[in-house]
Amino acid sequence: MADSPSPNARCRANLAAVTLPSVLLHDHLDGGLRPATILDIADTTGYRDLPADEPEALGAWFDQSESGSLERYLESFQHTIGVMQDAGSLERVAHEAAEDLAADGVVYAEIRFCPWLHTAEGLAPRTVVEAVASGLANSGTGLEWALIIDALRHEDHSMEMAEIAVASRHLGVVAFDLAGPEAGNPPRRHLAACRHIRESGLRLTIHAGEAAGDNGPAYIAEAMDVCGAERIGHGVELIRDCVVEEGEIVKVGPVAARIRDRQIALEMCPASNLATGAMQAHEHPIGALHRAGFNVTISTDNRLMSSTSMPDEFDFVTEHHGFGVDDLARVTRRSLAAAFCSHETKVRLWEERIAPAYREAGADVETSW
Ligand SMILES: [Zn+2]
Repeated sequence: MADSPSPNARCRANLAAVTLPSVLLHDHLDGGLRPATILDIADTTGYRDLPADEPEALGAWFDQSESGSLERYLESFQHTIGVMQDAGSLERVAHEAAEDLAADGVVYAEIRFCPWLHTAEGLAPRTVVEAVASGLANSGTGLEWALIIDALRHEDHSMEMAEIAVASRHLGVVAFDLAGPEAGNPPRRHLAACRHIRESGLRLTIHAGEAAGDNGPAYIAEAMDVCGAERIGHGVELIRDCVVEEGEIVKVGPVAARIRDRQIALEMCPASNLATGAMQAHEHPIGALHRAGFNVTISTDNRLMSSTSMPDEFDFVTEHHGFGVDDLARVTRRSLAAAFCSHETKVRLWEERIAPAYREAGADVETSW
């Protein structure tokens, strides 16, 4: 298992010589499986619905990097979820995710998933969380990690998922999130669950402004102001609340101003947005938001469906948005600052694993946290 590359590894033009360390805040467990593992588990468990029967063809089928629709993109999850219905499979998928992320230079990852999706064949939600935590804990990779429990915003289980999150702190659960089809499902629908999370002392991030269209800024405002989200998943539609001239933000509206004033971290996942939004690489707002002082962080979202990895995402912003090694260092420091781990962990990761590597790569970084 250890020598398999990340799903659909691409050529890494700009950073080929060095894999910079990264902090990954937004990665879905059911969006990062190895195609060979999907086939293997399907073979063992008798799952018969896969659209291809060898790894390369299956990987190509999963590559939704040009689908242009969030709904179509989400459809492809039926097969990854289909092979994640027993504890052994969940443990294996989590274990391999840790291996793949560590191989990509990720030193700390927050992995998210919705336990409810893995109960179709009778697993208890608690067993789902235990299996995932066990797979990550036993990976032997040195990757440090934490778990985020998702509720699906178009379902009615958010309070149940919030209660599972609160009861699973001892397994490494640090936060709660709303995921799934965004349009027509505003964050406010799940206010009770969000309140339960905050009152229990867990952290909160919400997918908002990913695919809500004209409602993007309003949903981002709801996530932050009504539900109390500390980070925003994606947030690309914040650009609709900005005036942009020649690729630069020259004026911000009220929602964008609050996000920037409070330095709310945006968990931006460019490859995923290109896949679901029919957007050209240079049109992605990540560069403009970064230059305008927003708290931009970089994540992968779904490594399998978006055919991406952290080095690929770093290559994307380097190639299409002019990021240099100092920008990547800044993004990595911001990501660590916004992470839901302890202060001690941040100090240790920065001073021992991240800052030395960026200095080595020529970045002008603070060596102390
Ligand atoms: Zn996501």
